[in-house]
Amino acid sequence: MIASANQPIQFQGRLAVIATMHCKERVIGPILEAALAIKTLVPPNLDTDRFGTFTREVDRAGAQLEAARRKALAAIELTNISLGIASEGSFGPHPILPGVAYNQELVVLVDREHGLELTGEHRTTQTNYRHCTIRDLAEAEKFAQAVGFPSHGIVVMASPKADPPIFKGITTIEGLTHAVPQALNQSPTATIHLEADMRALYNPTRMAAIAEATRDLARKLSQRCPACQWPGFDMGERVPGLPCALCNAPTELTLLGRSRCQYCGFTLDHPYPDGLRTADPTYCAYCNP
Ligand SMILES: [Zn+2]
Ligand SMILES: [Zn+2]
Repeated sequence: MIASANQPIQFQGRLAVIATMHCKERVIGPILEAALAIKTLVPPNLDTDRFGTFTREVDRAGAQLEAARRKALAAIELTNISLGIASEGSFGPHPILPGVAYNQELVVLVDREHGLELTGEHRTTQTNYRHCTIRDLAEAEKFAQAVGFPSHGIVVMASPKADPPIFKGITTIEGLTHAVPQALNQSPTATIHLEADMRALYNPTRMAAIAEATRDLARKLSQRCPACQWPGFDMGERVPGLPCALCNAPTELTLLGRSRCQYCGFTLDHPYPDGLRTADPTYCAYCNP
């Protein structure tokens, strides 16, 4: 069934299923329950790890969205609840800034009853995504401190390719003192690999990024198409052409923001979305060739 102008999609009073094994419902649940007046639950027997644990590189958003969508649909199938929510994160080097780590979080909502899918996003350099090679416990402790241990968990591996890692989710000095010598014993090179545990329940910094992506999703859900009331009427497109302040020629800077309805195609333009009415001549192909 597809919603129409006469029957706009309603969320109020519905039940939604959150596909997570890593306690993401702690941040996703309260934000969406308050924004949509829904109730949420986590299925007890959903194995989201079979869709792959979080990736080690920043993926194209397409692959990341596909992973989140598959988790949401699996939870919908398992519970027969038509509203499903899932998240997927990726980590890696910043696309532009050298030496800076980068986290991209997506939270997707799938409403199978109405054929709606909407995604909230958050991109940030606020992440402890990091790894290192160490030789002894003192170096391990130094690394642990640098990535926010013990509020943030640590993964200890004999080598970077060790699968599965020997110890995950270490959050105590006793745990670290126990894991490091064992891993060293198994390592042929007398060095071992440590990394920050990026799973949400061991990583409050990541949990905060997931909360931001969820807020972005709630904001998009609240923006309805003026023509048909479909949710997600978000200013997702930018149209270049802001005129040069000196010669009035169009530049690559944004002239218009454009909202487009996923359902009926209605568009609405927002002039000067960045608050600028003219472009600095440094951006002009004629004044500053
Ligand atoms: Zn110019
Ligand atoms: Zn519409």
